[in-house]
Amino acid sequence: MTTIRYSMNGICPYCQLKVHFSQVLIYGRGGGERIPLSFIKLSNKEQTEVTIVTCDNCIKTLVAFFEYKRIDKSMGVFEVKSTYPVISKIAKPNGVTQRIWDDYVEGMICLGVNAPKGAVVLFRRATQSLMKELGANPNNYLWKQIKELKEKGIINENLSELATELRLWGNFGAHPDDDLLDEVTIEEAEEMKKLLDMLLKFTIIQKAEVEAIRERRKKKKG
Ligand SMILES: [Zn+2]
Repeated sequence: MTTIRYSMNGICPYCQLKVHFSQVLIYGRGGGERIPLSFIKLSNKEQTEVTIVTCDNCIKTLVAFFEYKRIDKSMGVFEVKSTYPVISKIAKPNGVTQRIWDDYVEGMICLGVNAPKGAVVLFRRATQSLMKELGANPNNYLWKQIKELKEKGIINENLSELATELRLWGNFGAHPDDDLLDEVTIEEAEEMKKLLDMLLKFTIIQKAEVEAIRERRKKKKG
């Protein structure tokens, strides 16, 4: 006999974080007792199931799709494969250009449907656009551009070290064989997203926020 469990962790489209989901509870007969909504099988062949859940972090309701993974002879697990909505509409932060934002949002959609290769390509592209906007030499490798920005004092030591450590941002070139995408995991893609978040936050977003505060103060004085 196979024991089957459900792993209720996944990325919430609203918080954009890895969270724990809880199944929506419904009232049982008589109204007193609350029971979790059952998982519904979508097809026998693909072992896909679906249910309605809430995010433990933001309490919003969404649909979660699960995929079956066999662990060994006696155990199998259903893991969250994707959600609906895939990503909620999020406002572009001040200072971020549309070009970077389009790649970023599309990368998020890839994460949401468990497509790490697509996510990595888009996050890399968004990062390269950011480096260019910050004045790094556009002909350099990404890791070199990060180093360059550290030397110019645009990003701090911690951030640059963390960024250059990421193997996926390493020396990738023009050939499909050395883009390091074949083995990429969803966790690595999520790591890249977090780093890109920090890079954006401590450069152009922070700058735009400082400018906004300065503008408000100027108006007050005037
Ligand atoms: Zn959430």
